[in-house]
Amino acid sequence: MKKNFYCLSFLLFVSFYLSAQSFTLESVTSYPFVSEIASSVKGQISAFSINEKGLRNIYVAEAPQYKLRKLTDYSIDDAQELTGLKISNDGKWIVYVRGGDHGAFDESIPRNPASLTEAPKIQIFSISPSTGKSVLLSEGDRPVISSDSKQVIFIKNNQAWIVPIDGSQQAKPLFYSKGRTSSLQFSPDGAQILFVSSRGDHSFIGIYKNDQTPVQYLAPAFARDQSACWSPDGKKIVFVRRPSSGGAPDSLTVDKIQPWSIWTADVSTGKATEIWKSPETLRGSVPSSNGRYNLHWTANNRIVFLSYQDGWPHMYSVPADGGKPLLLTPGSFNVEQIQVSPDKKSLVFATNSGPDKDDLDRRHLAKVSVDKANMQMLTTGTGIESTPVFTEGGSKIIFLSATAQRSTLPAILNLKNNQINLVGADLIPKDFPANKLVIPTSVRFKAADGETVYGQLFQPKESSGKRPAVLFVHGGPQRQMLLGWHYMDYYANTYALNQYLVSKGFVVLSVNYPLGIGYGYDFQNPEHSGMFGASEYKDIKAAGEWLASLAGIDPNRIGIYGGSYGGYLTAMALARDSKLFAAGVDISGMHNLLPDLPEYKNEEPPDYQLAKNLVWQSSPAAYLDTWTSPALVITGDDDGNVPFSQSVDLVSRFQEKGFPFESLVFPDETHHWMKYANMLKMDEATADFLERKLALKEDAFSLKGKIICIDPGHGGTASTDKYRVGIHGEREEWINLRVAELLQKKLEANGAKVIMTRTNDVFVPIADRATICRNNKADVFISIHHNATADTAVNFPIIYFHGAASENLAGVALGKDVALAFKKYFYGKDIPESLNSDYTIFPQNGAGVLRNTYGIPGMLAEASFFTNPSEEERLKQKEYNSKEADAYFIALKKFFSSAIPPIKPIVIPKTLPPFAVFEEANRMNDIARGWHEDFINAEKLMNSTDTNVLRKAFDLFSRSAKSFPDSYIAGKCHANMAILLEKLNNPQEAEIERTRVKEFYVF
Ligand SMILES: [Zn+2]
Repeated sequence: MKKNFYCLSFLLFVSFYLSAQSFTLESVTSYPFVSEIASSVKGQISAFSINEKGLRNIYVAEAPQYKLRKLTDYSIDDAQELTGLKISNDGKWIVYVRGGDHGAFDESIPRNPASLTEAPKIQIFSISPSTGKSVLLSEGDRPVISSDSKQVIFIKNNQAWIVPIDGSQQAKPLFYSKGRTSSLQFSPDGAQILFVSSRGDHSFIGIYKNDQTPVQYLAPAFARDQSACWSPDGKKIVFVRRPSSGGAPDSLTVDKIQPWSIWTADVSTGKATEIWKSPETLRGSVPSSNGRYNLHWTANNRIVFLSYQDGWPHMYSVPADGGKPLLLTPGSFNVEQIQVSPDKKSLVFATNSGPDKDDLDRRHLAKVSVDKANMQMLTTGTGIESTPVFTEGGSKIIFLSATAQRSTLPAILNLKNNQINLVGADLIPKDFPANKLVIPTSVRFKAADGETVYGQLFQPKESSGKRPAVLFVHGGPQRQMLLGWHYMDYYANTYALNQYLVSKGFVVLSVNYPLGIGYGYDFQNPEHSGMFGASEYKDIKAAGEWLASLAGIDPNRIGIYGGSYGGYLTAMALARDSKLFAAGVDISGMHNLLPDLPEYKNEEPPDYQLAKNLVWQSSPAAYLDTWTSPALVITGDDDGNVPFSQSVDLVSRFQEKGFPFESLVFPDETHHWMKYANMLKMDEATADFLERKLALKEDAFSLKGKIICIDPGHGGTASTDKYRVGIHGEREEWINLRVAELLQKKLEANGAKVIMTRTNDVFVPIADRATICRNNKADVFISIHHNATADTAVNFPIIYFHGAASENLAGVALGKDVALAFKKYFYGKDIPESLNSDYTIFPQNGAGVLRNTYGIPGMLAEASFFTNPSEEERLKQKEYNSKEADAYFIALKKFFSSAIPPIKPIVIPKTLPPFAVFEEANRMNDIARGWHEDFINAEKLMNSTDTNVLRKAFDLFSRSAKSFPDSYIAGKCHANMAILLEKLNNPQEAEIERTRVKEFYVF
């Protein structure tokens, strides 16, 4: 009971503090994220895959109200994706896939970021929107529903399978085809199935009719045929043909043209004709865009496709029997997420076009006919609109809508009157801090070579002095960060994290560097980039330098972070430019690109050696000699995009060099932070690291020449002392020494002279410690301790100064700086803290080390309780000790940054009658354990008019203060005792208690 009581009031205390803060990472990441939208042909029903803090569920909404209704009931953060969302033509079934990591290179591997004990699977389910009854159909992926709404075909073990949609029969293989079968597609009449069969260096387009007819391969050739689709009448196929891979190895370091062509084939004769060939230019090469070729056979016998041939990813249309292609979307903008209307007469898509110049960093929806360049904007303004899906027979569009402050929600656009209605606004939690978010601004600056680099600048609302800044580097690298909430879940989270960093006082620049999309072909394909030169790094450096040049920014406090390709560039920045980038967080990054260079058994490419050299020079691992800035390396060990070994490689190199780094490993987590709790922990670690490390660089005052005496408490008593040890065997004196040594290194690296009272596990008498400090003329005395108590739940810091608060002004000032730094950089959250006189526990004359060094600013801190078992486990880790040392370091810098207040002779404590407290051993007994309960009970009696009750209250407060004389409520006990003494007509003793509170209990 006592323990529960304690915990409850502790929580209240914490929440009181948190309400004073702007917002938490948990609240800003509590947005619902819509990852998929599906709609039936008639569009009476639409379905959404929505992730709410790791709870992924299918929601449905019916026309015309579109009231969102939750259909599934997945109620734990188990990191299993819901993808492949489809609705049957009759609207009676929704089909989806549960499991896997569909952003990984191999999406067929089940993933288990929640470390569940049952092996994870990738499974296909069907569910009835009216009854909510769901059926497990089979293991498998990529489901397609037949036109008659009765069957589901899908891929399992690289082959086509079939199952009735109601699960009334077991799933079975549909047909066999050598290699990897993919891209299943029913013919318009539903009688035949089109697919792609990949066979290593070549691939074929196949058609399956029935069990009696062999599979038909259309116009097989020494080629890679792909992206096939049916003509509306089902008589023909259109597909993309690329040359098969092979031949003499070509240059690796020179960009090559990658030709492709569009072919049509007659299904009955199998005869194929080339109708269009890509221009023989780099821009005309295979497009690297979302949806790649975006090839469709549309109305009026037109074929539409995407090409970068005019320098931008644009849509073209060509007659199905060949001819001159028509550019449908001229202008300087990209098009993506292309959808064909149900009547096949028009396309809708997302674009960064629009009337506002900043629309280049947004997404709006637009529409164009398939045979006329009559593009028109469907949405404009300051929002982000993306991911369009036709519904209600093509009369409306469902899409994702966001702003800079409001996270992404589904919305319906009525094409008849352009009216837009949001769907499911109540999914956004009430405490989501929308109006506390800042609105980023679009910025541009020049790189060293004169090229324009783009970005979004996030600035705190109130600005004063020189602020620290953080450069955020996206991954991909084919991505574009926007002036609002992003339509990809990974970047919705980084947007939230950037906003959180701003709330903590950082200026954040999200940089859109070359290789990214949104600014044309040349921007997306810079020369000598990536593994053969990393030329894009110069733009990251330019972004850092641009930040450093801004008036309100401290150029010594620029941090950097990013994931994936952003992790790689973060590592590059820290390795090559530690002077510019003071600290960084490298998430799932690449560090040594040599393993990515193919090995050649026979002929080598003509420039193989050159390529190898370039690859090494493009690896952060090549620059470890100049990597001096602190780094936090974060990776999930089931990463399906960047091998875990990439971080193992870096960390091993760090360890060999003895370079201090911090790390965070998530067992079973993927590249994509699929378990919400992991993502939140990753965000928190990133923010904490940047705050801590950039605060260390705050150069308000140098520690150069300061003499700092560090006193690691106790020592050499492992065989004689049974008290200063945690339940897992860790001893206080060992922790104290580790923290002291780490602090020593940090201080010395900043020019301070450090005096240690002990440097190994030996006993040093208290008097000797003080003598060492005085003889070396120390400027400050820091005694490092960790605490013990009977209540194993307790964990908070206690800091002591010697004597009285109005006399030892320097000790109090130092204690306040240490308390603040503990809260911010060691605990990383609001916690109760005690800043007390040492007379509270040693009522006769205080603590020996502080008494005998009086006159030198000093304090003794118990940073945390090793009797708390989880704290003991943390305290065993050197990285955690380093965090504590960071906090002392920051506090010392702060302390020396302003004039040191005086230390007056000790008078008050000698005139004040001592308040006798329990001896150390008695503070562990049952009475003492009731310290908090006594306080609560006494508070209830305070307002009584009965003097006996008031005396009882006084005794309880007194007992609480005796039991735990340095607790964070002990000062309150004495204050209340003073009030009670007044009521009990004892003004003289009341005055004594008031003085005790004022002089001995700062907080
Ligand atoms: Zn101690």
